Amino acid sequence: MPSQKGLEHSEPPPKVDLTRLSLVASTSRNMIMILGDAGAIQWVNPSFRNFTGFLLTDIIGTRPSKLLGGSGTDPNTLRRIARQLHRAEQYEEEILLYTSTGHPFWVHVYGVPIGKEQGVAPGFIVIMNNISDHKHSERGLLIAASVFDRSHEAIIITDQNNRIIDVNPSFSRITGYSRSDVLGLNPSILSSGRHSPAYYRSMWKTIEEKGFWRGEIWNRRKNGEEYVELQTISRIHLEEPGSYYHVANFTDITELKNHAKDIERAANYDHLTGLPNLQLLKERLHQAQIHADTHETSLSVGYVDLDGFQAINANFGTDAGDKILRVLAGRFAQRLRSGDTVARIGGDEFGLILQSENHEAIYDRILSTITEPIDLGNDLGSVTVSASLGITRYPSDSADAEGLIRHADQAVYMAKDKGRNLLHVFDPELNEHRRQKRAQLIELSRALDNREFELYFQPQVRIEDCKVIGFEALIRWNHPHKGLLYPDTFLPSLEGSHLEVPLGQWVLEEAVYQMGLWHAAGEDLSVSINISPRHLMDRSFALYLESFLNSHPAIKPGQITLEVLESTSLEDIKRASDVLARCQALGFRAALDDFGTGFSSLSYISTLPIDLVKIEKSFVINMLKDSSDRAIVESVIFMGQRFNHPILAEGVESMEHARALRDLGCEYMQGYGVSRPMQANCVPEWVRQWRENHSDPSGPARTSDSGW
Ligand code: C2E
Ligand code: CA
Repeated sequence: MPSQKGLEHSEPPPKVDLTRLSLVASTSRNMIMILGDAGAIQWVNPSFRNFTGFLLTDIIGTRPSKLLGGSGTDPNTLRRIARQLHRAEQYEEEILLYTSTGHPFWVHVYGVPIGKEQGVAPGFIVIMNNISDHKHSERGLLIAASVFDRSHEAIIITDQNNRIIDVNPSFSRITGYSRSDVLGLNPSILSSGRHSPAYYRSMWKTIEEKGFWRGEIWNRRKNGEEYVELQTISRIHLEEPGSYYHVANFTDITELKNHAKDIERAANYDHLTGLPNLQLLKERLHQAQIHADTHETSLSVGYVDLDGFQAINANFGTDAGDKILRVLAGRFAQRLRSGDTVARIGGDEFGLILQSENHEAIYDRILSTITEPIDLGNDLGSVTVSASLGITRYPSDSADAEGLIRHADQAVYMAKDKGRNLLHVFDPELNEHRRQKRAQLIELSRALDNREFELYFQPQVRIEDCKVIGFEALIRWNHPHKGLLYPDTFLPSLEGSHLEVPLGQWVLEEAVYQMGLWHAAGEDLSVSINISPRHLMDRSFALYLESFLNSHPAIKPGQITLEVLESTSLEDIKRASDVLARCQALGFRAALDDFGTGFSSLSYISTLPIDLVKIEKSFVINMLKDSSDRAIVESVIFMGQRFNHPILAEGVESMEHARALRDLGCEYMQGYGVSRPMQANCVPEWVRQWRENHSDPSGPARTSDSGW
């Protein structure tokens, strides 16, 4: 601002009342100071006092710069003012000053020298105008402008007709278009053509309704490259009604998207083969199940496990192992059809989901493609690998995705059991059966601990004179909730399990214990116990019997018959003979149970060292009305006689049966016709009654230990 030398008047001032003039200074809203010629305060008006808080009496003689200057006051401005004061020249500045309480305020300062020319003592009149508000809005605009210029987001401002009226430097950086390239144009020049007109229509509809829209848009840079931006478009209404403009700001998220894709890849794909991993296989399987449900189609899950892959890694190194996995992954992917999935789900394990038709053929192809030679390169030559394949089918296997994969995995184990390079299909029914069997085994084990088993006893009688020759021990389970259970409901679960031997041992001990109680009650009775084939063939069976006898010296082994089932487990007939012979050497007797039901009856009866043959009850029960059953009974009796084995007929339900059997030459009988199996404590009384009713000629209670 150019300075002027004092107040220059071309005309003399009109005559005005001085008091009235001083009133102007006193009532002005501007802050007014009168300074002396040395620049010190001589007078201030009430506005100055009110605004700054300084009282004239306190500040008189002070320089304004000392009084009002502060940390934010520009020293250059102060210096300029001081120079003008010194030269007694007019000045005009904008400056930041402080009130008595330290509050900053902006003023426009206008200082005019006065003196002789006006007929007054030399000095200055200083008029200060508060311009804080103006300064603030000026600063706001400055900040807004710098935000526009420096923002990392691109900003486009368009008018009501959507013509670009301004863009910021980031817009140019992202799109490659300069400001002058685009001014006056429609932002659609950026369009990539990827979005449908409907997409843009819905975008504008949202802007109309809500005043803004936010979303992702694929656009094209000036150089033709496509990019994706996250954009917000806001409609800004101006003061005049109905007029507005648009501000769109966006960031380029192409890299972010690529990064997200990388993350997704890492989470869902195997880095070695590029195939989906277990996680993604499960997700796809879940989707495939939903698809199969809605379209009533089926799918299958395959689990491929390479045979002996450890050895390949060990022999050729892990690089070669990796190569094999990559080659196989490529071959699998080639063999599948669209909609099918192959995934790498473990070190040398792959999972398959087949939705297309004709699964068998594809699985066969998969197995055979694995066995094609793989060239390892260099000096390693080529190798051939094979795999085992487990398969399960949905919906016949109704498990969820994880269950299906687990079942296919279980089927792999079955395939591996059968050999290499084979497939096995999971059988859900068999699995359910196994599951139930497992659950029952747990229950059986608990029952054994809780002493829930009980032996019932069924008499065995000589037909000729009705003499009681012994009792067969038959197991029962007093189930806490289901009541009395018969052996056919629980023995099958026990078969082949770790509980088979312990239960067999319990039966022997319990039978011997009951024999002791009967003995004490005056009845010396023989007992037959059923020995399961596996228990009999258990390596330590004879040893166990021997130590049992040693620990129970009162027992007469001749009173115990071991009933052995004709069964496939006895196929090793030589070993079965040896075991039975050892048992007999210890003094036990042996009976061949349920004779006639097996296929090797003749070889058993001719080879095994046995003391008794029991005819299976079903033949006996029906022998009176079914001639072929009668024929079987006849031939068993005949064979027994030929091989010198006494015969006991089970299932003798009536005296008629007994007579028919006697006529055929059968010596012993057992069945409901004599008695149903009974609890142990009923046995002595039953024996007495029986003897009374049949006037046993042998007198007092005795069952011979060589009854047959
Ligand atoms: P099993 O050795 O053939 O036993 C004879 C079965 O026939 C018994 O059934 C008995 O109750 C039944 N029975 C006896 N007389 C008649 C009759 O006149 N008519 C009919 N319809 N049935 C008759 P239970 O007690 O249910 O035993 C079934 C099978 O369970 C036994 O067949 C035996 O193989 C096995 N078992 C029973 N107890 C034991 C045991 O302690 N250990 C082992 N390993 N197996 C046992
Ligand atoms: Ca039996």
